[in-house]
Amino acid sequence: MLSPSRVFAELSETGRPDDPRRVIGRAVVLGGSMAGLLAARVLSDHADQVVIIERDDIGPAADTTGFEPRPGVPQGSHVHALLPSGQLQLERWFPGFADEAVAAGAVVPDPAAVRHYVNGTQRRYANDLTIRGRALSATRPFLEGLVRARVAQLANVHIVHGQAAGLVMTGGKVTGVHHHPGTSPDGGATGVPQTEPADFVVDAMGRSSRLGGWLAEHGLPSPPVRRMPIKLTYATALFRRDPQISDIDVAFAQALPAPGCVARIGGITAVEDDRWIMLVAGYNEDRPSRERADFVSRCRRDFPAVFGDIAERGEMLGDVVTYHQADSRRRDFHALDGLPAGLIAVGDAVASFNPVYGQGMAAASLHASALSAYLCRDPRLDEPAAGYFAMVRVVVDAAWQTSTTADLALPHVDGPYPPGYRLIAGLANLIFMTSADDRELNRRLSMVTTMLAHPNSLARPGVLIHAALARLKSRGPAVSSTARQELP
Ligand SMILES: Cc1cc2nc3c(=O)[nH]c(=O)nc-3n(C[C@H](O)[C@H](O)[C@H](O)COP(=O)(O)OP(=O)(O)OC[C@H]3O[C@@H](n4cnc5c(N)ncnc54)[C@H](O)[C@@H]3O)c2cc1C
Repeated sequence: MLSPSRVFAELSETGRPDDPRRVIGRAVVLGGSMAGLLAARVLSDHADQVVIIERDDIGPAADTTGFEPRPGVPQGSHVHALLPSGQLQLERWFPGFADEAVAAGAVVPDPAAVRHYVNGTQRRYANDLTIRGRALSATRPFLEGLVRARVAQLANVHIVHGQAAGLVMTGGKVTGVHHHPGTSPDGGATGVPQTEPADFVVDAMGRSSRLGGWLAEHGLPSPPVRRMPIKLTYATALFRRDPQISDIDVAFAQALPAPGCVARIGGITAVEDDRWIMLVAGYNEDRPSRERADFVSRCRRDFPAVFGDIAERGEMLGDVVTYHQADSRRRDFHALDGLPAGLIAVGDAVASFNPVYGQGMAAASLHASALSAYLCRDPRLDEPAAGYFAMVRVVVDAAWQTSTTADLALPHVDGPYPPGYRLIAGLANLIFMTSADDRELNRRLSMVTTMLAHPNSLARPGVLIHAALARLKSRGPAVSSTARQELP
């Protein structure tokens, strides 16, 4: 059996299958957001026909102008960092994607204009987003819109507007999906229910997926759910970019929790159409509001000067929008006995993490990679997709370990603690502290935080000895033990 690091490395490969075999007649993907679109792209190699059922009316899918947030993806108004691993996978499935994105207005951040602050002090080395080439910075609707346009060009993929409502099951296998064509403006179902026949169904309905309930309707068990209550609130605003105010392309700022200090997160990224998107986030009872005055005062009070400068002097475009996420959540399909054949899940429907670490789209792209690996191995499709979920588990475990180790250091997060938590947290803290001033350690840490490498790669003796020696040599003040995680 391959180690998790090895599986992760294989899923991170960027070659496309040479001669993919068509092993599926008709595949149906429920949800046409990032994870669903990526899964549809992979399935287009292996299925005669792929149908994406999406609840939002997205209009002409091939249109590559005027991308706006949409109701089915409420997080789409907020900062979305595309981690290098996600970018590489997008390039893998849609060759030329990065060039196309840049031509359409995505920003390639200048490394000299990327800053990472911890408790107001700039780290010498920021999380390295250019570790595998140039980074891309854009809004979430822009990225999704470009991916959707590429998927719409695939001859055997069709996107239909409708709300999926249940599974059709025949003899332990999923054979179709019930759906209501079209939806009303309030998101409710309108059209007469229809059944879409399917040989293979993908749940890409996001973190609120109702798949568990649909399985229960057929007397089948639901995947066990694990939650970590992070109680995170984002407030986000767009600003016109203005070189008179700042030359910043990307800024991350962490205020770490300590006695008398509250943990907070701030972020700025330059995005298409000459704008900055800026977020401030708080935990537990520290909830940023939609009030502009609150946004501005948080920027000035809690973060480095550039945040206050943009908030006070910049032209705000539109209103402040907020988003509350109660928990990080994973559905352990790999642990489920009795999953029907012909059914998988991808993206946030499997696991969603604290978004400040920017893992979601990269994780979804690695799920697509797992789907490709699974289908290339000519699996028995009349059996549950255990081989697929075993690979997805590796991706989920890696992202979960990285994000929850950091979140468990927040005073209001009281578990669940994994076995060996104290040791893992202590070593993570050592690497985070020393990597601020050590280029090689920063590179290794960045490989993990940008999801290019499995977290186990940091637990090698050589890395830990290097970190311990660097710590001994350093004269700087120790960073609080809560500073375990870099932002994207
Ligand atoms: C505030 C916030 C900030 C984030 N920041 C980042 C970041 O910086 N970087 C990053 O990589 N990720 C980030 N994420 C995570 C990222 O948004 C998701 O991981 C990513 O969008 C993948 O999601 P998905 O496609 O699985 O689900 P979603 O994007 O949630 O999409 C689900 C889709 O399913 C559709 N749907 C739902 N129910 C039905 C139904 N019954 N029938 C048909 N369609 C249905 C919805 O309309 C929607 O299109 C952030 C998340 C949040 C909440």
